[in-house]
Amino acid sequence: MRVPMIAGNWKMNTNHQEAVKLVKDLDAGLNERIPVDVVACPPFISLASVSEALTGSQIRVGAQNMYFEEKGAYTGEVSALMLKGLCQYVILGHSERRQYFLETDEIVSRKIKMALKYQLKPILCVGENLEQNEAGKTEEVVTRQIRRSLDGIETIETLIVAYEPIWAIGTGKAATGDLANRTISLIRSLLQQKYSAQAANAIRILYGGSVTAGNIGEFVSQSDIDGGLVGGASLKVSEFLSIIRTTAQLRGGV
Ligand code: PEP
Repeated sequence: MRVPMIAGNWKMNTNHQEAVKLVKDLDAGLNERIPVDVVACPPFISLASVSEALTGSQIRVGAQNMYFEEKGAYTGEVSALMLKGLCQYVILGHSERRQYFLETDEIVSRKIKMALKYQLKPILCVGENLEQNEAGKTEEVVTRQIRRSLDGIETIETLIVAYEPIWAIGTGKAATGDLANRTISLIRSLLQQKYSAQAANAIRILYGGSVTAGNIGEFVSQSDIDGGLVGGASLKVSEFLSIIRTTAQLRGGV
C-alpha cells in the first residue's frame, strides 16, 4: 500500500523569517503522528534554516528546482550536490519552470538523473495546458512528458509524479477527482509498460492544481491518486493542516 503524500510548493513566497515561522507553525500544528508523508518546499535560501527548524519533526523538506550539473561555472544555479543534506525531495519539471525558464523534457530528464545520483527524491511534474486540454490532447501530452522525462532512467523506486494540469494551477479551477484519476491511471500504466507492475504500483502519483481543504477529499478518495502537490494553500497553516488531516482520514490506514 502506498503512503499518501502532501507536498507544499511555496514557490517564490516567504522571506527567510517568514519561512521559518511558517514551518514552525505547521510543525506545532501537527502534534499527532500522521500517516501521511508531509513535505515543505521553501525557496532555496530558506532550505537550511527550515531544515534545522524541523529537526526531529515528521515534516520533510524539498527544493523547488535544481540544476543538472554537479558544480562549476553556472552562476546562480544550485546543484544536487549542494542540496544533499539540506532536503530529501526536489520538485522537477514544474510547469512554471517549463513555461518561464524554457525547461524541456530533456533538461528535466538530466535533472532527474542527477537528483537520483545524490539520493534526492524527484517529484516529477507533468500536465497539459488549456489549449491542449480543449483539443483533447491531454493523454498525448502527458505520455510524451513521462516518456521523455524518464528517458534513460532505469530505476524509479524513489520517484514521485505529480499530475498538474496547467489550467488548474493557481486558477481556483481544480480538475475533478474523476478526470484527474483517469490521467493518473494512464501515468501508472505508462510506468508499468516501461518498468514493471510492481514498480508502477509502488509509485506515489499526486494531483496538483488549486487543491484546497475543501476539495482534497475528492482527489485522495480516488483509487490512483496518492495525495497532492499544493501551491497557494500550502502557505496557509490551518488550511494546509486541514488538507493533511483529510488525507490521513481518507487514505491514512497504512
Ligand atoms: C503548484 O504550484 O504546483 C500548484 C499546484 O499551485 P496551486 O495549488 O496554487 O494551484
